[in-house]
Amino acid sequence: MNIQNLIRKNILALAPYSCARDEFKGEASVYLDANENPMNEPYNRYPDPLQWALKEKIAKIKGVNPRQIMLGNGSDEPIDLVFRIFCEPKEDNVVAIEPTYGMYKVCADINNVAYIKAFLNDDFTLDAERVLAAVNKKTKIVFLCSPNNPSGNLLNRVEMLKIVNGFSGIVVIDEAYVDFSHEASWLEDLNKYPNIIVLQTFSKAWGMASVRCGMAFASEEIISYFNKVKYPYNINKLTQDFVSEQLNYLERKEKWVTMLLEQRGYLQKELKTLPLVEKIYPSDANFLLVKVPDADAVYNYLVGKGIIIRNRNKVSLAFGCLRITIATKAENDMLINELKNYN
Ligand SMILES: *Cc1c(COP(=O)(O)O)cnc(C)c1O
Repeated sequence: MNIQNLIRKNILALAPYSCARDEFKGEASVYLDANENPMNEPYNRYPDPLQWALKEKIAKIKGVNPRQIMLGNGSDEPIDLVFRIFCEPKEDNVVAIEPTYGMYKVCADINNVAYIKAFLNDDFTLDAERVLAAVNKKTKIVFLCSPNNPSGNLLNRVEMLKIVNGFSGIVVIDEAYVDFSHEASWLEDLNKYPNIIVLQTFSKAWGMASVRCGMAFASEEIISYFNKVKYPYNINKLTQDFVSEQLNYLERKEKWVTMLLEQRGYLQKELKTLPLVEKIYPSDANFLLVKVPDADAVYNYLVGKGIIIRNRNKVSLAFGCLRITIATKAENDMLINELKNYN
């Protein structure tokens, strides 16, 4: 596997912006190198462009080398960056499972890169042959999302592996919901597969969606291209310090996950008893995809009651479906009570 051959030529040749904090690393007593204001410490100083302190902490929790981590403004930033690093606009393409997370297509469109859909089976399971059949000579990236959004299911590992082994490009494995799933993360195999990029986020289980911090894990080589292309100071000091502090409360996150998984079971059980629920898809995430006879009507009814869910009625394979996020027992009960009165 030669990663260099997959990189856009202008990115290979790129001389990245060299910031003051890159040029001099270490401790000094007087900093006169970055045109900062000497007042209002510590916010007057540019932050660490590579966020080493935070990465060291994340690396310990995730069992990876800190050099295998890129941090972004949500996982949406690395999603956009993979297009800019690997895909020549109007020439290269990407393949993604369908249906899946909407940002892959939006980033493809913004970067003027063709987006090829490889449909999941009707029950949202993965058919590796179909994905590999969609790939052509100009395909640089395959996007897999497991557990998948909006379906909620884990993709079969054996099928995923066929793609990782059978495709000679980059496989992005989006694990935004990994904390809610019973299967191991692909991080355990990061060193075995030099062509995978694993995405995780602080937005879901960690309860920090507003903080905007996502993680990409890959080989040191791939991460070096992320570092070349990203904005120099993409993660501000407030975020670096805050996330670092929150990482001390790993047990609290695990407690939240336990509570939400319990509530997922509860909501499944309660929804099953409602006449309007045709089908509840199995979920390994913190949401349920639910099929009803008239999704628009149920969605609008709930809006009228002040309860907002996600209408997935127009999403392929999810026609007639609603996506419901698992919340507290009290909030889940409010939803169930309103649905009981729906007719
Ligand atoms: C929510 C979500 C993300 C997270 O995005 P952030 O930018 O990190 O908030 C990424 N991928 C999928 C599939 C998601 O559902």
